[in-house]
Amino acid sequence: MEYYSTNGQAPVADLKKAVVKGLAEDKGLYMPQTIKTLPKAFFDEIHNLSFQDIAYNVASAFFGEDVDLDALQDIVYDTLSFDCPVVKVTDNIYSLELFHGPTLAFKDVGARFMARLLRYFTQNTRKTKSHPINVLVATSGDTGSAVANGFLGVDGIHVYVLYPKGKVSPIQECQFTTLGKNITAIEVDGVFDDCQALVKSAFMDEELNQHMKLTSANSINVARFLPQAFYYFNAYAQMKRQGLDRPLVVCVPSGNFGNICAGLFAKRMGLPIERFIAANNANSVFYEYLQTGKYNPRPSIQTIANAMDVGAPSNFARVYDLYNKDYEAICQDISGATYSDAQIADTMREVYQKTGYVCDPHGACGYRALAEGLRADEMGVFLETAHPAKFKTTVDDILRTDIEIPAKLQAFMKGTKQSVPMTKEFDDFKAYLMQQP
Ligand SMILES: *Cc1c(COP(=O)(O)O)cnc(C)c1O
Repeated sequence: MEYYSTNGQAPVADLKKAVVKGLAEDKGLYMPQTIKTLPKAFFDEIHNLSFQDIAYNVASAFFGEDVDLDALQDIVYDTLSFDCPVVKVTDNIYSLELFHGPTLAFKDVGARFMARLLRYFTQNTRKTKSHPINVLVATSGDTGSAVANGFLGVDGIHVYVLYPKGKVSPIQECQFTTLGKNITAIEVDGVFDDCQALVKSAFMDEELNQHMKLTSANSINVARFLPQAFYYFNAYAQMKRQGLDRPLVVCVPSGNFGNICAGLFAKRMGLPIERFIAANNANSVFYEYLQTGKYNPRPSIQTIANAMDVGAPSNFARVYDLYNKDYEAICQDISGATYSDAQIADTMREVYQKTGYVCDPHGACGYRALAEGLRADEMGVFLETAHPAKFKTTVDDILRTDIEIPAKLQAFMKGTKQSVPMTKEFDDFKAYLMQQP
């Protein structure tokens, strides 16, 4: 399969190049040249298949031309070593819990898949073991933990996680600073933007790129975002298994729009999703686009659903391209919602009091958009993108609870923190990397 750039100025790439490079030369995002629809027989039988087998069918449609099928099956099975169950919250609203992976958030799926696919491509072409690939990732919290754990122990790949000193929560920090092995945490004396600037400068520095092979594990990478389609298919299968057959509305708490974009791909492949809702926090750039037809990106503002604090969603380019830049067509499939912190907190309290279900601040946006927007003949699934314990302080404050920290998370917290202190000056970061083998 060939991948073209959404900016249309770069040559098409094969899957390997798209995965290793991440971004096209013209700074556009890679899109697959064709999106295959899956056969009717697959949808007729989907409720009888396991999550892994459903995902393997989907993965074959995307990657089957470029990856040996046995290897692809191993990659998919190994990625999905945990479940993504659909849980009933109210009569017609269900939560798709994407937080049962190693770092308790949905990014685990894409990060694990990408790590395994990258290993596949490098092992197949690398003649000696002496040149590892180095993944650089800047994080404000969740991405670093998913990427670090996804790549942990993966042969031939070293990961450097850059994070702002004192700006990530202790729970998040321990998820990438306690791992050791092929994961190095770099504690930058600065803010998230400084971390991102260091990573960008590193990719552009010729001398550094001659010294070591660098790549990014950013959410714009096709190997991170496409596998997120797997759990949309699996959610549908679970609904069908329960005999639920009303028109399905899927609501996605959105920041960079990678997650919802994967859902739109799933629909394009034939998955019977009636429509989507993109739920935003106060960062309402996409919501405004739907209201006005004008896309007006701007700096983000801080909210309690901080993984969605994005003012210029990078995957907007993919959504726009998928619909041939047709505003009306986008509005047919997607509607929007935007909520203030106060509304998010109210929703968390309301759901908890009415049903006992604990939403995290991101999932709460998803629930509320369905509660407000679902028609009587429809049923809704919102993506619960993280375990509430990842935001324990916020959740306990709002709900007056003392929610339990899952064993997986506690295990991280027991580990010893190891990190490399770093200034925000590129020369220092470069000097450090030049010393690495
Ligand atoms: C990353 C993240 C999101 C936003 O997902 P996008 O793909 O960037 O839209 C939502 N919730 C949580 C918990 C996240 O970590």
